[in-house]
Amino acid sequence: MSARSSSTKASAARTLVWFRGKDLRLSDHVPLCDAIERGEMIPLFVVDPFFFEPRRAADLPYRMQFLLDGLSELAQEIARLGSELLLVRGKSVDVVPQLAKRWSVDRVVAHRWVEPFARARDRKVAARLHVPLVLFEGETLWPPGTLRTGSDTPFSVFTPFKRAFLARATIEALQPRPESLPPLPADVMSTLPSLESRTTVPSPEDLGLSINKRIQQGGESHAFARLQRFCREAAAHYDEHRDRMDLAGTSRLSADLKFGTISARQVWHASHRELGDSRAGEVFRNELIWREFTHSTLWDRPEVLEQPYKSSFEGFPWRDDETAWRAWTSGTTGYPVVDAASRQLLQEGFVHNRARMIAASFLTKHLLISYQRGEAHYMKYLTDGDWAQNNSGWQWSAGCGCDAQPYFRVFNPMTQGEKFDPQGDYVRRYVPELSNLETKYIHAPWTAPPLSLRQADITLGATYPHPIVEHRHARERFLALAKQYLKNRK
Ligand SMILES: Cc1cc2nc3c(=O)[nH]c(=O)nc-3n(C[C@H](O)[C@H](O)[C@H](O)COP(=O)(O)OP(=O)(O)OC[C@H]3O[C@@H](n4cnc5c(N)ncnc54)[C@H](O)[C@@H]3O)c2cc1C
Repeated sequence: MSARSSSTKASAARTLVWFRGKDLRLSDHVPLCDAIERGEMIPLFVVDPFFFEPRRAADLPYRMQFLLDGLSELAQEIARLGSELLLVRGKSVDVVPQLAKRWSVDRVVAHRWVEPFARARDRKVAARLHVPLVLFEGETLWPPGTLRTGSDTPFSVFTPFKRAFLARATIEALQPRPESLPPLPADVMSTLPSLESRTTVPSPEDLGLSINKRIQQGGESHAFARLQRFCREAAAHYDEHRDRMDLAGTSRLSADLKFGTISARQVWHASHRELGDSRAGEVFRNELIWREFTHSTLWDRPEVLEQPYKSSFEGFPWRDDETAWRAWTSGTTGYPVVDAASRQLLQEGFVHNRARMIAASFLTKHLLISYQRGEAHYMKYLTDGDWAQNNSGWQWSAGCGCDAQPYFRVFNPMTQGEKFDPQGDYVRRYVPELSNLETKYIHAPWTAPPLSLRQADITLGATYPHPIVEHRHARERFLALAKQYLKNRK
């Protein structure tokens, strides 16, 4: 069912190229190039009603908006190059085998996905197909689950994984973007009018979505523009600025990587081209290797989506505290940097990485609310919401993940703010009710003298909340609980 890559030239074949939402591009698309090289090709996207209906779209409104952008551009580009992206309503496990048979294709090709539910889907589709389902690598830089320790086990620590990656992974050259595409075969064209389940790219209105203009625009051309802008502006100082929440110091390519509007290889090669062996280049590629690590972990340990990576955390006594949960999700905990992160998420479908770490640490350690609740909330609103990376980020923050931050490291939201948002600009952007407060109090407004608060138009408890928990008390409460719980559990 799978192929690492393919260059064997075969006699003309007919291939169904199954685009499936993580490869919404024409550049560096190995299955597409392979299909073109072999002969006829039919590009397909299955519009599964489970995802493409208002109730479900409301569960992931920003990702859906980004996906629709990317899908529209893909359909337009495929048409411009001489073919047509066929959009067909139904479940992949039914639609793909039916169409493969109806159009007498020789193969179905797609990119491999790492998630357990996607792997199960692919097994079902493969079992129902009368021809091979050929899955190509490309979601990651190197096939997940192939780098192994000296004792042939998956890596559980990032640094040796990274060392192995840098020593063993060879990142192939990019596949060229096709200048034209073979037209749909005539017999396929003639069956289209009778294909009742054929559809077009749904509009946001079809799915009951109201457009949020603050969400990044999806699509291959926008991804490429973002990569170019990053190379031009922030890349050279990535190592110094990546943790600064107040600066545009990172690439903002995460949603593009998630939806494949750009490939990981394109980003990897661009970083080598633009940054070479500089410190900025190394630090940036370190993050891309973290992405590899999270995907490999999910490949080897699919159960992490259901339970903590570290079994010692199973059954951890997280609290059900609806008041605290509401304060955290709405950005009203009284800790400015935590609140800025929550509001950035709701407004933009994105949160700066440092702010994600602070906010996740606060939810799990200060408020003792399960990382799984935070993880699900982020999955709902993040445009880049990705099963592997989001789960890893949350488990890392809670202390129960693969090579996680030790449980006893509890972020102090005030000192984190002072260090990574020194002028308070990040807080002021998302928590405007604090915007007039002097910088020295911006990360701890309750320490400001009454006159400073009055001058900044702030009434604690009215215009901005008092802290929901006291930092030192919350820290000790978590440490005592975790120490006690983990004592005899290895
Ligand atoms: C609680 C939490 C949840 C997260 N959820 C997600 C998620 O759902 N999707 C997601 O893509 N990232 C997630 N991350 C990782 C990280 O926050 C984002 O990838 C990053 O903020 C995206 O911004 P950027 O594209 O400007 O990153 P850059 O700093 O420019 O990094 C380049 C790319 O490297 C990858 N990357 C960067 N940091 C990490 C990391 N720590 N782990 C894995 N990959 C990384 C991303 O693909 C990113 O686009 C999460 C982190 C935490 C702490």
